Amino acid sequence: MRSKKQFAVIGLGRFGGSICHALMKEKMEVLAIDQDKEKVEEFASIVTKAVVADSTDEKALKKRGIQNFDHVIVAIGDNILASILTTIILDDLGVEKITVKAQNHYHEKVLNRIGADSVVHPERDIGVRVAHQVVSESVLEYLEVSDKYSIVEMVAGAKMVGKTIVELDFRATYGCNILAVKREEDVYVSPSPDLVMKEKDILIIIGADDDIGRLENHWMD
Ligand code: ATP
Repeated sequence: MRSKKQFAVIGLGRFGGSICHALMKEKMEVLAIDQDKEKVEEFASIVTKAVVADSTDEKALKKRGIQNFDHVIVAIGDNILASILTTIILDDLGVEKITVKAQNHYHEKVLNRIGADSVVHPERDIGVRVAHQVVSESVLEYLEVSDKYSIVEMVAGAKMVGKTIVELDFRATYGCNILAVKREEDVYVSPSPDLVMKEKDILIIIGADDDIGRLENHWMD
């Protein structure tokens, strides 16, 4: 079983708010911080504890024992200066893991230099995902693993139906692996090589972007 970790989320906009909801769903302990009293009141009944504080005030953060949290997420978007100052303070206080939302490429660069352990850029990442989905009609989901590799979720093309995974031969021909096949309510993780593809099956595939593209060109109509 996973241990119950203590998270603090600073900034309760759409991004920070959705992180709070997701962490609570995972049964984690969450301290939510925002300088806006109304936001804090909104989250008081959702998270473990919600407090009003300005995260650029070192004393205020220390008073809340922020240094004792396993992971602090800085979800301040618009106010780049506040986001940078907060990150520096958290790093100075010795917070073990700091994840920060970046607003743009330069913000991301600064955050990487000043002690953020992880920088997320949700708008850019969603943009890339949506672009992949609209370029290819068969791609339902796209997750970038690195510059060259990704995981895609695609609907089985008509040409695939009736063929086994061995017959599709994705690994030898394209160097791609089928991680799972979703069939209605069922999910076949590491599917058997004998599994026969059915109409509407959804394949979850990992591989190099170029190879996934070649595979799609061959198998999708
Ligand atoms: P999102 O894009 O996630 O919806 P947003 O645009 O709604 O964000 P932002 O301005 O990015 O809002 O800020 C997110 C939250 O961070 C706001 O609720 C804001 O009150 C809070 N915030 C901003 N600066 C500070 C600060 N110094 N200390 C605490 N909270 C802050």
